[in-house]
Amino acid sequence: MMFPHDTHTHTVYSDGTGAIADNIAAAEERGLKVLAITDHSRYLGPKTVNRYVREVRRWAEDSEVMVLVGIEGNITGNGVDVPAFMAEKLDFVIASVHEWLETPEQYLELVKIALMDEDVDVIGHFGANFPYIGFPRAEELEEILELAEANGKAFEISSRYKVPDVEFIRECVRRGIKLTFASDAHTPRSVGNVGWSERAFIKAGGKKEDLLFEEFL
Ligand SMILES: [Zn+2]
Ligand SMILES: [Zn+2]
Repeated sequence: MMFPHDTHTHTVYSDGTGAIADNIAAAEERGLKVLAITDHSRYLGPKTVNRYVREVRRWAEDSEVMVLVGIEGNITGNGVDVPAFMAEKLDFVIASVHEWLETPEQYLELVKIALMDEDVDVIGHFGANFPYIGFPRAEELEEILELAEANGKAFEISSRYKVPDVEFIRECVRRGIKLTFASDAHTPRSVGNVGWSERAFIKAGGKKEDLLFEEFL
């Protein structure tokens, strides 16, 4: 791979099956330069989050891989469920829609909440629900892109859900919206499964400087 990084993986701190050390070992084996551990927010209370951050930092010290510690928050109608005190302990925050919705408009309304939240860095698997609830109109997507650009938010390119599509990624590149590769691995075996992300990124004309974590690549 040209840009071997994976910034969305889960461990036993949420619904993944591997320990933090297992994900890091898998990243080393696959030759990743950057790995992020990003467990689901709803599993991480105030005490657990401290232990989680400490454990990632401890394993990171012994690794050649740049290991980041993040979180995957849920976007709800009341905001993203990552409190500020948690966000400030973490390297970055992913915000994703996990609710079942009826229309693409409802989905985009939630994404806009995250795009306006100053603790959010990356929108997770944007559009994963569209095949089921319908695709938004071009003007609606335009509004999302404008908001992301204005607020300096990034999108992950998810190999698990194969989203966003190449057209959307191309628009991100054109506007200087940063991108990052994501396996969304829930097992160590899947860590680094980001081949689809890189192919879509390159097809969309992406260059190193378009990647959120380019400084480590
Ligand atoms: Zn998710
Ligand atoms: Zn995830």
